[in-house]
Amino acid sequence: MRVSICHCQSCQRRTGGPFAAQARFPAEAVEIAGHHRTWERIADSGRRAWYRWCPDCGGTVFYTNEGQDGFVAVPIGAFANDDLPYPTASIFERRMQSWLRVTGEGITHED
Ligand SMILES: [Zn+2]
Repeated sequence: MRVSICHCQSCQRRTGGPFAAQARFPAEAVEIAGHHRTWERIADSGRRAWYRWCPDCGGTVFYTNEGQDGFVAVPIGAFANDDLPYPTASIFERRMQSWLRVTGEGITHED
């Protein structure tokens, strides 16, 4: 559906970085296999987010958000492919680190 970066505090906490990058897929297009554990957090949106992470390596393998049942998000770093489409949305910029600049044509910026 889209590749985006998110500056919300939940994503910063989850990744340990200044923002998160993820690809969003229609839920019906995603097949979950293997084992994972779930961490629930109240996101900056006020809704619950369910982060699924690998109990072996600790990396987030996918996540879903309350009230947004139609999609599954997969962190960019979870893909073996290193040539994914560039982000088209930068969201929760009100939480963006002051030293960070998001540039590029066609990127929407959401506060
Ligand atoms: Zn976020």
